Amino acid sequence: SEEVIRGGHEEGILVSVRLRPLNEKEILKNDVSDWECINDTTIIYKNANLSVSDRSMYPTAYTFDRVFRSGCSTRQVYEEGAKEVALSVVGGINATVFAYGQTSSGKTYTMTGITEYTIGDIYDYIQKHREREFVLKFSAMEIYNECVRDLLSTDTTPLRLLDDPERGTIVEKLMEEALRDWDHVTELLSVCEAQRQIGETALNEMSSRSHQIIRLTIESSAREFLGRDNCSTLAATVNFVDLAGSERASQSLSAGTRLKEGCHINRSLLTLGTVIRKLSKGKNGHIPFRDSKLTRILQSSLGGNARIAIICTMSPAQSHVEQSRNTLLFASCAK
Ligand code: ADP
Ligand code: MG
Repeated sequence: SEEVIRGGHEEGILVSVRLRPLNEKEILKNDVSDWECINDTTIIYKNANLSVSDRSMYPTAYTFDRVFRSGCSTRQVYEEGAKEVALSVVGGINATVFAYGQTSSGKTYTMTGITEYTIGDIYDYIQKHREREFVLKFSAMEIYNECVRDLLSTDTTPLRLLDDPERGTIVEKLMEEALRDWDHVTELLSVCEAQRQIGETALNEMSSRSHQIIRLTIESSAREFLGRDNCSTLAATVNFVDLAGSERASQSLSAGTRLKEGCHINRSLLTLGTVIRKLSKGKNGHIPFRDSKLTRILQSSLGGNARIAIICTMSPAQSHVEQSRNTLLFASCAK
């Protein structure tokens, strides 16, 4: 009988899986698609060659809040896998949206769209709520090898983390731009993209090893006194996190793979896994936010009453089945 693994949220973490189409390289190598979304919540491993012993070793069906088949649009992934969580920021609740998956599975493709759709919807919300005055602030950073770098600045000096008694962990000297309009948004997004590209050419494989955080802070206050409930000031942060390739969390290296450098295993990614597992079991007890830069920076947007969405991206290719299974196991643990 097939074991079904469940992952999902009920007031907890919103977990979904996005299957990308086979790419040209995979098609040229006669690779085939091994996975299928059989409905809105279940993805199955459908390899016809699967031996009986393999079937008992691995689950073949996995259930999440949502699974997205290879042809679906990023708009749909946003609407059903991220929007509710990301937009809680307009109500004063911190939020984090992650893209998790192996290199070339579609993390950046997915997170870029989600970031733009969210900011677009926040602007729509602001248009409809003229009774309040909003200030949007944008910042962006990259964590590589446990060093934090500002993606809005050409200065690559690592930034320090400081503990502020009121605001929690802050990134010292991180630039923060007050957003003027949509053109300003696209301009800043392309600055981040360019800064990331510079790192990429300087250091091979950087994007597979680094985490990118785009952070939007929204402050609002009533334009006039409308009674006690309406005059309060709200402030919250939403983070869009494009994680390092999940192969960086793999404990074992397959035979023939050389350990190129000591940082193959990514501390921030491993700690995030532990933090997510613990958060999914409830927010009590010790959660090791302080064990990595990524989790320290995100702490106030992960713990407390913060909302979390994780979109796990995967290649459908047979050649990637081990990494895809690891990704689905991570997603299952987020439940
Ligand atoms: P990652 O950030 O996980 O390394 P990318 O987002 O860069 O992966 O995606 C790798 C390539 O696959 C890119 O060229 C991207 O445009 C393409 N791609 C990823 N996901 C999809 C998708 N769902 N549909 C079409 N193309 C995709
Ligand atoms: Mg990427």
